[in-house]
Amino acid sequence: MGKLLKKEDLTRFLYKLRQRGDLIAPVKTNTTRFEKINDIKKISLEDIPQFSPKKFFVPQKETILKYDDNKISHKKIMGEKIIFGIRLCDINALHRMDKVFIEGDNPDTYYKKRRENTILIGYNCEKPLKTCFCESMNLEPVYDLFFYNMGNYYYIEVGSEKGSKLVSRLKDYEYDPVQIRCEKKLNKKLLLRHHQKNVWSKLTKDCVSCGKCNTMCPSCYCFTIRDENDETLRRGERVKEWDSCQYKDFTQVAGGFVFRETRKDRLRHRIYHKLLYFRQKYQKDMCVGCGRCITYCPSKIDFVEAINKLR
Ligand code: SF4
Ligand code: SF4
Repeated sequence: MGKLLKKEDLTRFLYKLRQRGDLIAPVKTNTTRFEKINDIKKISLEDIPQFSPKKFFVPQKETILKYDDNKISHKKIMGEKIIFGIRLCDINALHRMDKVFIEGDNPDTYYKKRRENTILIGYNCEKPLKTCFCESMNLEPVYDLFFYNMGNYYYIEVGSEKGSKLVSRLKDYEYDPVQIRCEKKLNKKLLLRHHQKNVWSKLTKDCVSCGKCNTMCPSCYCFTIRDENDETLRRGERVKEWDSCQYKDFTQVAGGFVFRETRKDRLRHRIYHKLLYFRQKYQKDMCVGCGRCITYCPSKIDFVEAINKLR
C-alpha cells in the first residue's frame, strides 16, 4: 500500500520538507544536476541527472581539519538533508558507499553524519538511457519514499518509517507500478575467467586516463589527503579530495614504484573492483548500472559490451 499526491500539491509538500533542512534536487541548466533548492519551481524531474548527488556526501574537495600550532579544529557536519528526485541507481550507490564508510573497517565520521541526517526520496526512471543496465545489478528498494509519475498524480511507495511519517496525511492508494526495462544487460559471470585475456588491451587502446569514469560514477569514492601548510609549516589545513584509479600516480609509492603502470592494468582494475573485489568483501557489486562511465567517456569505452563479448 502506497500514497497518492496530486501534482499540484508537490510544491506545498516539498516546501514543508524544506523546513526540516536543505532540499537537494535535480535542476536543469546546461545539463541536469543536483543542487540545493531555493526556488522549488526550478526542480526538473524529466531527465536522468548527468551527475549523481555524490558530492553532497563526499565533496570533491573539502577541508576536514585546520591546525594552528597545537590547536586542531575539526570540520563540523550539521543539519538535515532531503534528497528529492534521486534515481534508484544513485540511491543504491549511496548504500554501496555506506558499506565502506559506515560499516567498513575504518568508518568515516564526516560521511556517516551526512548519511544519518538524510532523507532519500527517489523518482522512477520513465525512459532509461541506452547505456543504462541497472536491471542486471540487483538494485534494492533502500529509500525512504519513492515517487512514480501517474499523469496528474504521483504514486508514492513508502520504504521506511521515516518516510511513512512524511506522508502519513496523504491518501492511501494501491498500485503495482510497471518496472521500466533496460535494453542493455551485463553478463557478469563472463568476467571471472578472463583477467589475463587480451580483451583488456583492446578495451583500453583508446583510454586517455582522464579519470572521467571515476568522477561521473555515483559509487567511486577513492580520495587523497594532503596537508596545505603556510610558510611557517605550523599552520594549515588538511584537505581531502577525489582521486582516480585511472591516474598513473594513484598507486605510486615511496621510491617511485607504480603498482598499476599501464592503462590496461588501471582500467581492468576498475572493472574488477566494481564487479568482483568489492563483492568479495561486501557481498554486493559496487557498480549500480547507471551507464554514466560509458555515456561520458571521451573515447566511448564500453566495458559492458566488452564483457558480454567474452567467451
Ligand atoms: S573516462 Fe574513458 S578515457 Fe577517461 S579514464 Fe575512463 S575509460 Fe579512460
Ligand atoms: S555504470 Fe559506470 S558510472 Fe555507473 S555505477 Fe557502474 S561503473 Fe559507476
